[in-house]
Amino acid sequence: MIFSDIENNDKLINDLQTAINNDSVHHAYIFEGPGSVDKKSFAKAFTKALLCQKEKGKGCGICDVCRKTQNENHIDVTFLEGTVAEGRHHKSVKDEGIEMLCSRLQKKPFEGNRNIAIICDADIMSARAANRLLKTLEEPPLGTVIMLLSENPEVLPKTILSRCVRCRVAGYEEGASPLKGKAEETVYMLVEKAPFYKLKKNIDFIGKDPDKAGEFLDCMEETYGELIRGKGCRSELFEKEYIYDAVSAIEKAKAEIRKKTSVDYAVKKMILEIGG
Ligand SMILES: [Zn+2]
Repeated sequence: MIFSDIENNDKLINDLQTAINNDSVHHAYIFEGPGSVDKKSFAKAFTKALLCQKEKGKGCGICDVCRKTQNENHIDVTFLEGTVAEGRHHKSVKDEGIEMLCSRLQKKPFEGNRNIAIICDADIMSARAANRLLKTLEEPPLGTVIMLLSENPEVLPKTILSRCVRCRVAGYEEGASPLKGKAEETVYMLVEKAPFYKLKKNIDFIGKDPDKAGEFLDCMEETYGELIRGKGCRSELFEKEYIYDAVSAIEKAKAEIRKKTSVDYAVKKMILEIGG
């Protein structure tokens, strides 16, 4: 996931990109939001935007740097998560973890010109850990960016809060597929009996690619599923019977594609079946 995949956070993303482009990136950020908001993916997207050489300020999502960041094995990006100590029930971010992190930040970056630290569950840092982190926040090595992910920053010591830029991350759908929009459009065009050439135009992008077709058909099914659960807009247009028939036509097309029938043919047949 890169910045352009993240919805509902345009202002924040714009601010962070401006900071990267103006070389005014702060050395510490708190990304805050409820547990349901995927702050870690957001921090990773920011890291890609910081480190990616292909798309500075954006992240390309496919280069070595972006992929390693995503997989959490980039040598200059340290992740720290809360752990449960033996005999304890609660997770916490321990002093030893912060100690390791801080000593890593004192070393030069290996690949680029920045060291990044992402501290997940920052709220549950032990007091000692917070104290140790504070020292690094007071005198951060050049190029360092520390990101604290937090559900409730109010529990963090004021001394830490005052040294970080606080950013509220709004909820977004993780991994929302760009195909989903196309699929929804197609579903509504079908129920409104749009002419075949228009439908064809809407799905031309699939071409002969069976993977893309599979993903697209999954998105269509997902849309019908939402309509059954009464979640889609204008769901009154759809009768249950109609939806079941549509889903079975999609299933048929998927099976044919798996059996190596031409993608073109299978999808066209499905469109005619649902639309007809
Ligand atoms: Zn990249």
